Amino acid sequence: MVATSDTNLLAGPAPSGAPRRYVYVQTFGCQMNVNDTDRIMQVLAPHNYRPTDDPAQASLILLNTCSVRDKAEQKMLSQLGRLAPLKEYNDDLVLGVAGCVAQQEGERLLKKVPYLDLVFGPDHIAELPELVARAREHERVSETTFTKRKAFTFIEAEPREETRVSEFVTIMKGCDKVCSFCIVPFTRGREVSKPADAVVREVERLVAAGAREVTVLGQNVNSYGKDLQGDRIPTFAELLRRIDAIEGLERLRFTTSHPMDAIDDLVACFGELPSLCEFFHLPVQSGNDRVLREMRRFYTVAEYEETVAALRRQSPGIALSTDIIVGFPGETDAEFEDTLALLARVRYDTIFAFKYSPRPGTRASEMDDTVPEPVKRERLARVLALQDAITRERMEAYVGETVEVLVEGPSRMASKGQAARWQLMGRTRTNVIVNFPVPLGEFWSDRWIGKLARVNVEEAKSNSLYGTLA
Ligand code: SF4
Repeated sequence: MVATSDTNLLAGPAPSGAPRRYVYVQTFGCQMNVNDTDRIMQVLAPHNYRPTDDPAQASLILLNTCSVRDKAEQKMLSQLGRLAPLKEYNDDLVLGVAGCVAQQEGERLLKKVPYLDLVFGPDHIAELPELVARAREHERVSETTFTKRKAFTFIEAEPREETRVSEFVTIMKGCDKVCSFCIVPFTRGREVSKPADAVVREVERLVAAGAREVTVLGQNVNSYGKDLQGDRIPTFAELLRRIDAIEGLERLRFTTSHPMDAIDDLVACFGELPSLCEFFHLPVQSGNDRVLREMRRFYTVAEYEETVAALRRQSPGIALSTDIIVGFPGETDAEFEDTLALLARVRYDTIFAFKYSPRPGTRASEMDDTVPEPVKRERLARVLALQDAITRERMEAYVGETVEVLVEGPSRMASKGQAARWQLMGRTRTNVIVNFPVPLGEFWSDRWIGKLARVNVEEAKSNSLYGTLA
């Protein structure tokens, strides 16, 4: 799920007092980081910071980083190099790094990058205005300690001025699993669950502001609540039931979960909760039991496939996606073939596949990285080629069907031959993008945004569908 996005959020009303300043944030990595960027903007807004898309206009530049893969980290370092010259003609500029690389590197990053002013981990977002003020006093600031579980408080998300049809709500942070390849427990710390009442309040506020779909986020959402104390702590499935009952919420999604945690309860929610969409991202990582053991995933391929079968019994037509790592230390050709065989059996709708890269501090980084780079490349290419064929087949199966689309806004591209008509885009409950044309007058009206449309699918492309209103 690696993506980058520039953030341009509308901050709240500018208070008097502090001079108006602009902040440019570039976000790397997963949806958790995108969500953290929203919170960064939220805490800066009362201090008169406005977002900008232009780093040259900014007096605060933050790179919100990801360290799940080495490549994302390298990308962040090159971007810092590109931004460095701005400091030469803007004395007011504070340049900072947030997110997982900041958490992992701390002071080391300040030593490595001499023009960097500020490094802070995800637990320190609430203190950001104060950290920036210290950096402005020419102090080089590094704040990367983890807040203790009991002392940690979440920043409750406020809807922005322009709430999107589809929004995200963080329900927990950190991860208590110990997957041997994964850096998340080192960069995000132990699991802390947001109290259920706070989650429900956030979703209610978003729905009141116009959101129709909410995705609840956490590194391992089905472990939700295990760290909370009290008589009546809801499980993740119970939390989903409370959210599902919120009036006006059309669709509910979640990501990400571990195949071993409270999975039966979660499977039972499909088909039972009207808003819960028929889509499940269930990371498997490998199709071989020995490799799974080395990865410390604590399930077998057979157990995983039993869960898939249960999901499909409970919710026929559910779309599935997964994460795959190829070239884990010691993975033999035959073990890799097991992963291909698993993909062929499960027939996921989509996958996210990566070559293994050792991450500092993890157990796997102490193993011999035995699979040579060209072999990793070749394995990745084979996985992607197989999955492309399966995805194409699964997309073709939509042609001729009528699907329910939650309309998000204008489509990015007019498809060939449709230039005279205006296209909107939305998603099916199974999370597939659908583009469809509407008459020009309706395109410019707000008539469709946030509404459910029924679309006859006429064409399947590699990552989207095209159709006309039913
Ligand atoms: S469950 Fe996910 S986030 Fe947690 S350690 Fe394993 S891979 Fe990392």
